[in-house]
Amino acid sequence: MSLLITNDCISCDACIPECPNDAIKKGAGINTVDAENCTECVGHYKEPQCVAVCPTQCIIKNPKIRETKEELKSKFMRLQLMKK
Ligand code: SF4
Repeated sequence: MSLLITNDCISCDACIPECPNDAIKKGAGINTVDAENCTECVGHYKEPQCVAVCPTQCIIKNPKIRETKEELKSKFMRLQLMKK
């Protein structure tokens, strides 16, 4: 699963610099996660870094985007290749 930022977001932006995949974008009042780039931090860290720093606990698993650990690992590998 990719993660999802809910309406509880206060747009403090603490999450943006923590994302190793540059997947979080500033929105109008609420920041958003680009599901194409979110690996739930798989490949980089053991835990989602955005969740760890969010002061309002507004970042949850996106119930509409189901991805296995293997799929997240594959996405991580694809993103790494695109950086080269
Ligand atoms: Fe970025 Fe990791 Fe949060 Fe996904 S879980 S948006 S990769 S910091």
